[in-house]
Amino acid sequence: MQVPYNHLPAQFADPDPILASIKELVLSTKFTLGGAVEEFERLFSEALGARHAIGVNSGTDAIFLSLRASGIGPGDEVITVSGTFIATVGAIVQAGATPVFVDVNAERNMDVSKIEAAITERTRAILPVHWAGVPADMPEILEIAKRHGLWVFEDSAQGIGARLDGKSAGTFGRTGSFSLHPLKNVNVWGDGGVIVTDDDALADSLRLLRNHGLSHRDTVEHFAYNSRLDALQAVVGQHVIGALEETTSRRRAHAAQYDTGLAAFEGKIRIPPRDPRKQASYHLYIVESEDRDGLIAYLKDQGIGAKVHYPVPVHLQPATRALGLDYSEGSLPVTEAQARSVVSFPVHQHLEAEQIAYVIEKVGEFHGF
Ligand SMILES: *Cc1c(COP(=O)(O)O)cnc(C)c1O
Repeated sequence: MQVPYNHLPAQFADPDPILASIKELVLSTKFTLGGAVEEFERLFSEALGARHAIGVNSGTDAIFLSLRASGIGPGDEVITVSGTFIATVGAIVQAGATPVFVDVNAERNMDVSKIEAAITERTRAILPVHWAGVPADMPEILEIAKRHGLWVFEDSAQGIGARLDGKSAGTFGRTGSFSLHPLKNVNVWGDGGVIVTDDDALADSLRLLRNHGLSHRDTVEHFAYNSRLDALQAVVGQHVIGALEETTSRRRAHAAQYDTGLAAFEGKIRIPPRDPRKQASYHLYIVESEDRDGLIAYLKDQGIGAKVHYPVPVHLQPATRALGLDYSEGSLPVTEAQARSVVSFPVHQHLEAEQIAYVIEKVGEFHGF
């Protein structure tokens, strides 16, 4: 049996309906912003329960523009996590601000008990990541932010479709940033991103920032960026977002099957604690194993794709060291221990229950069960 990690070949096996919509767009020649982007933004904001959705050219820019629109820049500190994709931190650095890392909890999200010790007079914002599609502890983070007069920006690139007490991940903070990268749960045929916010004035600033600061064709309010979501990608996104509920529920079912099956290998496989307030989107399904490299090699021989997200946390990357930030090995012990032991199993929506059962069986076999 084959259990591919990647969902793209199955997802786009029949591209004709999307190509037909693209043909319409091409014939209309409305290639920049316009109706296609507006319609996608409408569908996106409705799916999330947010007032505004603003299409931009990547998830990284969604975070960067959120910070810029809030005046965060040089001299400011933004508290985030190191166990994330490099883009979270790249966006902070691109804005000219300084990332400040706090350790994570067993769920692999920001450890809220570590936040207050990281706050200084320069701190402006907290930027949690809904890692793997498991919502961070948003009520607690919002409470701390309120007490200290800080903004909260969510990196929800992996969190589309996830909820906490029924509220969508990405709709708790000042903004939520989403990625439409091909490997994300709602994806397009290239790069794209979305910012959601309930703040009308902020939404207006973000629309200016993504389009050269142009309020009208001939009026530049302030110099800004070209970070528009491509109309062509918006057309793809219109097709894909319709499947969000189904995609998410299939991923949840696979994750539940893994949780139950892998529980039999206690002592060899560590499953993160599951918070009953949270309905995760399972962008990734991650567990920990003391011999994860051996496990991955064994699974590969059995036709199963497994990956590591990620082996080197951001605070130990050469790029971070080059900033002159003082994070030596051992400074974020939980993040570092996880980087050594995490393994991601295939969980995408085009898999079947038999394939998940096969992965569980092979994981058990490797550990001598
Ligand atoms: C994918 C991702 C991003 C960046 O999104 P791009 O669209 O690739 O720029 C940011 N943060 C996290 C956690 C991600 O997984």
